[in-house]
Amino acid sequence: MHPAKEDLIKRWKEEYSFNENLISAFGFVKRENFILPEHLAEAYGDHPLPILSGQTISQPTTVMIMIDALDLKPTDNVLEIGAGSGYGAAIISRLAKKVTSIEIIPKLAAFAESNLKKEKIRNVEIIAGDGSIGFKKNSPYDKIIITAACPKIPEELIDQLNEGGIIVAPVGDLFTQVMIKATKKYGKLEEKKIGYFRFVPLKGKKGY
Ligand code: SAH
Repeated sequence: MHPAKEDLIKRWKEEYSFNENLISAFGFVKRENFILPEHLAEAYGDHPLPILSGQTISQPTTVMIMIDALDLKPTDNVLEIGAGSGYGAAIISRLAKKVTSIEIIPKLAAFAESNLKKEKIRNVEIIAGDGSIGFKKNSPYDKIIITAACPKIPEELIDQLNEGGIIVAPVGDLFTQVMIKATKKYGKLEEKKIGYFRFVPLKGKKGY
């Protein structure tokens, strides 16, 4: 395995209590397939990298923290808002039944799709469009992940989530966001804060 990739796994085992299956999924998926060729040497640096259209592929540790918080099960139907490179969707696809991942920038939706093909992943459906209102057609979802900073969790997403389902999302202003892990109980979200992060802004109807 790539030495820097091994170092990340080693550090995570010491500093975090990530699910073993999540660590295996990280080990399996090649981040090299989701970045631009000019950043190949930094594939396993623990920082975000620029992709196309001013967007970024998230820092590996951030991807792990968010996906771990989803408590994925092999039967889960998952919605991701912000496909970007498709990397997050690729990791989730190894731990869930189906992933619908929406991307508002058409060029990036095509990028994500071609990256997922390189990894021969077939249970991810990339949709080009505005995910801030969810994607009703493939709902209800067991888990929803928003990978862009949002002013609040959109009502539409709560409606498209199953009872007992989980939403993980960075909520805040454009400069800093608190990562929320919310569980739907009796139709309402019960929220827990799991740290501070900085993401690119959510666009679209319920974005900034
Ligand atoms: N999960 C990605 C990281 C994406 S960065 C990865 O693993 O690479 C956030 C992405 O959200 C950007 O690509 C941005 O274009 C997209 N985005 C922003 N607003 C959106 C919206 N309303 N609907 C869908 N995608 C959106």
